[in-house]
Amino acid sequence: MWFGSTRDCSPRATLDQALQAGLAPDGGLFVPMEIPGINRNTISPDLDLPECAARVLAPYFEHSRLADRLPAICRQALDIDLPLNALHGDPKAWVMELFHGPTAAFKDFAARFLAACLDALSETRQSVPKSVQTVLVATSGDTGAAVAAAFHGKPGFRVVIVYPDGRVSARQAHQLGAFGDNIHAFRVQGDFDDCQRMVKHLLATAESVQRYRLTSANSISIGRLLPQISYYALAASSLASCGSIDFIVPTGNLGNALACILAREMGFPIATVTLATNANRTLPDFFSGNDYRGRPGLQTLANAMDVGDPSNFERLAWIYRDRDPRDAAIRAESVDDAAIQARIQTEYRRHGQVICPHTACAMEVLRRLRNQGHDRPVVVAATAHPAKFEQVIEPLIGQTIQPPPELARLLQRPARAEAIAPEPAALERALEGLDHA
Ligand SMILES: *Cc1c(COP(=O)(O)O)cnc(C)c1O
Repeated sequence: MWFGSTRDCSPRATLDQALQAGLAPDGGLFVPMEIPGINRNTISPDLDLPECAARVLAPYFEHSRLADRLPAICRQALDIDLPLNALHGDPKAWVMELFHGPTAAFKDFAARFLAACLDALSETRQSVPKSVQTVLVATSGDTGAAVAAAFHGKPGFRVVIVYPDGRVSARQAHQLGAFGDNIHAFRVQGDFDDCQRMVKHLLATAESVQRYRLTSANSISIGRLLPQISYYALAASSLASCGSIDFIVPTGNLGNALACILAREMGFPIATVTLATNANRTLPDFFSGNDYRGRPGLQTLANAMDVGDPSNFERLAWIYRDRDPRDAAIRAESVDDAAIQARIQTEYRRHGQVICPHTACAMEVLRRLRNQGHDRPVVVAATAHPAKFEQVIEPLIGQTIQPPPELARLLQRPARAEAIAPEPAALERALEGLDHA
């Protein structure tokens, strides 16, 4: 399997090269040159996620140095609980809980998988002298923690996290600064799009890439996108007796939902994919017929989705380069803060269900669709544990929310993050500072 760039101006790369580079040399995102079809019968519903992932991802790992180790990588990285719960009061709806990893958000699946791949790659390349690789990550809250947890204490790696100061929840910020050791957090005086721009700039600068042995762990990394396909494949396979399934996915940078779309293109029984965004309307505007227009991110209660110019749009456009993605059974719906709050309250009062603000966007979209007479089987992706957003949720439901044990442990440690300006040069200086520290 070969990987190319969404901008079509880079030589083709192997998966191993794509994993290590993060971003293609022309500044584009790596994409598989073809989307492999899958024989659905090889995915029986009684597989667990690591087994399912090893089969679903095998075609992408053909000719990779990691091909033989893929099952072990999946076992090590993706052994995370994945409940698919029937939704109260709706016989044809399920909630897929993606937040049972160490940092209580869906990004654990992808971050752990990427870390396991990069680790395995550095082990299989004994000849090169081992200097520390720097994993650069821009985060709107959850990516940074997931990547930090995945690489924490791994020899040969350090993680540099940049996040928008004051725009992540207090617990998220604490979590980012609390790892210590080989994890370094910087708070940027700007928004998430600034953070993303800084990281992209450095990754596109050959000199910095070489000097710091930079690699990326953002959702722009192909090693993050691929593993996410597996839980959609497994959910769709296990509900196949209900026919093809619609999915509603809380969406910001479009990584998670794109994995769902890829699962469908591979042949899994998935019908419409609905992107549930917060008040950031870039994708809903595009899918309702307007030209794509990236814009600054708006701050909302579902802060991990405060993205005005989703990176993975480039991949979506590339995948549908021969036709209009608006004809591809993809829908996008925006949910504003007032609707998020009302949805959190209503789900709690009616069903005793506590949901995070991101999941609330998807749940609101489901309830709207049902009100419009939509009666197809639907899976809602629940992307974070509500305890990460207790400052939003607790006042709405009048209850305190206990963090899961791993999160609780992290929150008890001291946290530290240095402030930097929203410019690539500031990030470069920060990297330099680490080398001299
Ligand atoms: C990152 C994140 C999202 C958005 O996912 P994308 O892949 O960026 O679209 C949604 N919910 C939570 C809780 C997140 O952390």
